[in-house]
Amino acid sequence: MPNVSSTTWDYVIVGAGSAGCVLANRLSADGRHSVLLLEAGPPDRYPWIHVPIGYAKTMFNPVYNWCFKTEPEPQMNGREVYWPSGKTLGGSSSINGLIYIRGQHEDYEHWAALGNPGWSYRDVLPYFRKLEHNMRGESEYHGIGGPLWASDIVAKHELVEALIAAGGELGIPANPDFNGATQEGVGYYQLTTRRGFRCSTATAYLRPARGRSNLCIETGAQATRIAIERGRAAAVAYRRDGRDVTATARREVILAAGALQSPQLLQLSGIGRADLLRNFGIPVVHELPGVGENLQDHLQARVIFRCTKPITTNDVLASKLRTLAMGMRYVLTRTGQMAIGINQGGMFARTDPALGRPDVQFHLATLSSDMAGSPVHTFSGFTLSVCQLRPQSRGHVRIKSPDPLAAPAMQPNYLSAPHDRATIVRGVRLARKLAGTPALAPYVMGEYRPGPDATTDEAILAFVRDKGATIFHPVGTCKMGPAADPRAVVDSELRVHGLDAIRVVDGSVMPTLVSGNTNAPVIMIAEKAADLILARAVP
Ligand SMILES: Cc1cc2nc3c(=O)[nH]c(=O)nc-3n(C[C@H](O)[C@H](O)[C@H](O)COP(=O)(O)OP(=O)(O)OC[C@H]3O[C@@H](n4cnc5c(N)ncnc54)[C@H](O)[C@@H]3O)c2cc1C
Repeated sequence: MPNVSSTTWDYVIVGAGSAGCVLANRLSADGRHSVLLLEAGPPDRYPWIHVPIGYAKTMFNPVYNWCFKTEPEPQMNGREVYWPSGKTLGGSSSINGLIYIRGQHEDYEHWAALGNPGWSYRDVLPYFRKLEHNMRGESEYHGIGGPLWASDIVAKHELVEALIAAGGELGIPANPDFNGATQEGVGYYQLTTRRGFRCSTATAYLRPARGRSNLCIETGAQATRIAIERGRAAAVAYRRDGRDVTATARREVILAAGALQSPQLLQLSGIGRADLLRNFGIPVVHELPGVGENLQDHLQARVIFRCTKPITTNDVLASKLRTLAMGMRYVLTRTGQMAIGINQGGMFARTDPALGRPDVQFHLATLSSDMAGSPVHTFSGFTLSVCQLRPQSRGHVRIKSPDPLAAPAMQPNYLSAPHDRATIVRGVRLARKLAGTPALAPYVMGEYRPGPDATTDEAILAFVRDKGATIFHPVGTCKMGPAADPRAVVDSELRVHGLDAIRVVDGSVMPTLVSGNTNAPVIMIAEKAADLILARAVP
């Protein structure tokens, strides 16, 4: 018989990721409420988590990363696509690429138009300003004094400069701030780093709150089920050190286990599509067909060029002396390649001039490798990764076993929409056009991937099917929307439809994927959720 114990809290938060750490801090701040934060992974003590270039050290590390794989993808040559996901304090913000992007103003207008009052750009901007401490100072679009640092890449890189000039030659404007008035253009990214270290939500939000007597953080604690009593979330069952524990929630249970595991946990608890639950012998507690549906992700096609000059990170890592110099520079000044990570430059562009706003994002990495985070090539190389911003393909996350410790089936259905296939092909063509401009061509010795033979649309698409990968933004599986929407799982206050005292607060609530990277938008969601929760909390 397992050793069973039980505790009681005002709020029980499942998952200490980008969203969960924000909630833990904000809900425990005034000392009125007791908060339990459950995290399946270990503490974030591994030093490489905190050094930006350590990205490569956590990318395939099963201690800090769930290392998921999708189901075989029909449009991707039946491949199981590798899906990393953070498994430690900070969640994916502890292993991500540090790029600080909010998305386009229109993304949030669209959320509001879908029947979600309170989520227009005007509504969410104050939360984006609240969460950040922007190195550039305060402005209409930016805040200072918030927990999450947004830092500039101070050192210029020849390749990013060349990309900015190349964009200019194609009529794509230089944009010094992708998170300002408009996203379109080319420039340097800002990074979520603080004085050369990663600024995860664990360091930004949890560390300052750790000492509070009303906040308890349990690591190695995997939630296995939510207990629903008379339509109300009453408790969370979890496993820790082989023991089954129950945490009772006086006020609310908040799921922040990410877009892959929040819907899984709902399904394991009998909340979801009735046919799916019955298949696995799980009693249907509350039928909610949208749970796990509406999965969306950004697919990236990494176009790789051999570089004419030994100025890439590949060259640094190929030489012991240069690697040592890079290390010394970091130790002494907290700058240089080790403080940057992978991607330095970005571009938001329209693959068709008739479009009203950018439909693709480019990440410029001053290095090249077969997969993101795998060892770099031995030649001088750089990567222009192309990503379609608003894919129309939809997939799902569904349990494939009643075992709470088994991964669910993840099926993004990449490229299933014809529009997505056409956009990614146009994006790859745009990457080539950039490489052929007078500004960038002097740096291009040749195209390594897909390679000069891939000239037709079919050949480019074949390359994407064969080598395309996630850019790590699965969202949408507990869609926010009005009750009349058959796919909606939570309302505009992130409360699960039809149940009491349970919310989902993480990337899964996005009704549609934002046009950009997802960490800052998830943190914004959690900041707003904390206000929504506390506004209802009677002392
Ligand atoms: C490799 C990688 C690179 C990325 N690069 C960028 C980037 O450069 N910029 C950007 O903006 N975004 C990036 N992203 C995406 C971004 O980091 C995520 O969208 C965001 O962190 C998701 O936040 P979340 O709170 O929804 O989930 P997560 O941060 O993933 O948090 C979920 C947490 O819940 C825990 N958990 C899960 N199930 C349970 C359970 N049953 N019980 C207890 N705990 C549980 C997990 O271990 C995890 O800690 C990247 C993501 C990855 C994986």
